[in-house]
Amino acid sequence: MSSNKTNNAPLNVQAIKAFNDNYIWAITNAKQVALVDPGDAQVCIDFIEQQQLYLNAILITHHHPDHTGGIEKLRVYCQQKKWSLTVYGPANENIPHCDVKLSENDQINVLDAGFKVIDLPGHTAGHIAYFDNNDTEASLFCGDTLFSGGCGRLFEGSAEQMLHSLSKLAKLPEHTKVYCAHEYTQANLKFALTIEPNNKALKDYYIKVNDLRSKGQASIPTTIQLEKQINPFLRCHQLTVQTSAMQLNKSMQTTELETFTTIRRWKDKF
Ligand SMILES: [Zn+2]
Repeated sequence: MSSNKTNNAPLNVQAIKAFNDNYIWAITNAKQVALVDPGDAQVCIDFIEQQQLYLNAILITHHHPDHTGGIEKLRVYCQQKKWSLTVYGPANENIPHCDVKLSENDQINVLDAGFKVIDLPGHTAGHIAYFDNNDTEASLFCGDTLFSGGCGRLFEGSAEQMLHSLSKLAKLPEHTKVYCAHEYTQANLKFALTIEPNNKALKDYYIKVNDLRSKGQASIPTTIQLEKQINPFLRCHQLTVQTSAMQLNKSMQTTELETFTTIRRWKDKF
């Protein structure tokens, strides 16, 4: 057994709810916590104090304020506690107090885990994700790029860039747990069902998510395997999705990119 390796235990990940529908992901071990995209400092400080942890690291996926707004206050909080804090963020975006700037294939060690960085331009120009793949499981922290049943809006990047970014995520191991930054699943699945009304996996998942949400439970994390079955933005090569896109844009070519472009535009108005 590889019991002396540090990188073989499952990650312990907990959701901290923020704003209306954001999840700040807290990766913890017995003593420490790393926070992914802490847009709001106070909910994080409450979590840290409740669980009696030391804040060790902040991992940022992109520059939007609902992902970065808590950095300054958390930094001051750590200074007062005399804890050493490292802020990691995308090299190509302006992140406040970023200590380590990251891009494609960089590797970092945080708590007991090793993360590989994946460049994912599209939602913003410099968006990155953090991917941990160890002996027992794989986890992806992908901010606002891939959501369950959907994908991020194109604020800074092109449809081509976003499609390429999503195709990189679709190649990750099927069992990868996907920790995205918003609980948008129900609304995304309503849209997905208009694109693929006969997709059995999608219909089943919609029932399951409605049940979870009615009990106040999160639908996240999802998995790469599930998203490939139900997420229209990962299925633009499928005839069913291409046929639905054609209904909206009769002049389009039935390519993966034109299908993606068409349904992404449609979703913006849905
Ligand atoms: Zn964003």
